[in-house]
Amino acid sequence: MRVYADNAATTKMSETAIKAMDDAIQNYWGNPSSLHSIGQSAAEALQKAREDIAEVLGCTAREIYFTSGGSEADNQAIISAARIGAKKGKKHIISTAFEHHAVLHTLKKLENEGFEVELLDVSKNANITPEQVKNAIRDNTCLVTVMFANNEIGSILPIAEIGAICREKGILFHTDAVQAAGHLHINVAEQNIDMLSLSAHKFHGPKGVGVLYAKKGIPLTVLIEGGAQERGKRAGTENLPAIISMAAALKESNANLDVNAARMSRQRDKLIDGLSKIEHSALNGTRENRLPGNVNFIFEGIEGESLLLLLDDRGICASSGSACTSGSLDPSHVLLAIGRPHEIAHGSLRLSLSEWTTEEEIDYMLEQIPVVVKYLRNMSPLWREKINGEKQFVL
Ligand SMILES: *Cc1c(COP(=O)(O)O)cnc(C)c1O
Repeated sequence: MRVYADNAATTKMSETAIKAMDDAIQNYWGNPSSLHSIGQSAAEALQKAREDIAEVLGCTAREIYFTSGGSEADNQAIISAARIGAKKGKKHIISTAFEHHAVLHTLKKLENEGFEVELLDVSKNANITPEQVKNAIRDNTCLVTVMFANNEIGSILPIAEIGAICREKGILFHTDAVQAAGHLHINVAEQNIDMLSLSAHKFHGPKGVGVLYAKKGIPLTVLIEGGAQERGKRAGTENLPAIISMAAALKESNANLDVNAARMSRQRDKLIDGLSKIEHSALNGTRENRLPGNVNFIFEGIEGESLLLLLDDRGICASSGSACTSGSLDPSHVLLAIGRPHEIAHGSLRLSLSEWTTEEEIDYMLEQIPVVVKYLRNMSPLWREKINGEKQFVL
């Protein structure tokens, strides 16, 4: 059996998304900037994709900017807000300690330029409160950027409430909604969001394409100079096949969102119940306010990397932490942010489900994971010391 449980890293493209891409390659291969009929039919298809995405997000087509993905959208949103702030002498930015690196590294760059970045502490429940944001706001705050849902632990943040606070204070609010799209309802108007980032490959669309929503009137900073595409805010001939495919994928996942989320939540809870029976283990984050498809466990006495390799041998594709941090030896900044001690933060396992995950796959994971955890612990000298009482258990 082969189980793909790493959908937070990327998803497989849906049939709908593949068909839409194929159709675009065949029929809309013109340059949307060309004035002739072939160019104009590409321009119409581009506009249709923009309208479809705007409808899902609850904004207008003119507020949608296509980018090369979630990372670029995060960069552009944050840098734009910083430039707007700097003009008014406002150089204080609020974010959280467990954002994606596309956000954290952009903030680091701004810090080196003289901005003051305040990363709010994340609770052991893997969340922050609107009050924390309220208390951190100063007269010179120019931006609050808080993710919609965390990519490692799956916690869902109180976005609408944070947005309301920012709106009241007249501060720009950006959210990285890459993990939320396709799984949670997003409506930028109702949720008081000024800027939002999406990435197609996290909702069964293609890689290398994403969206930046920016509310009307927000002057974006141009990161890629050139032609006048994207209302002059992002140059380069549009990646039309990818954009059209992304719009189809987003529409599809949004149309089936409630049914899929309910089924995935049941599967998630079944996994959590089953894995909780493994001794000296713990769920990272809480069951409440959790993405439908996210399960993240920590197993004491286990190296995450070894666990992943052995699970892969048994056909289970999972992750420890995020794909971007795996490959490095540092424990995940997200697990450290929720207060997991260094010594055990290595032993985490993230299983991220999709709309296509089956009951059989859940059962297979519940059968295999305890066996592999037991096998690894039996081989570990550290575990033996704990069993013999020479060292304390942490969990
Ligand atoms: C995947 C991801 C990104 C990056 O998106 P890309 O399209 O891969 O650049 C940003 N933020 C979060 C929360 C993500 O999960």
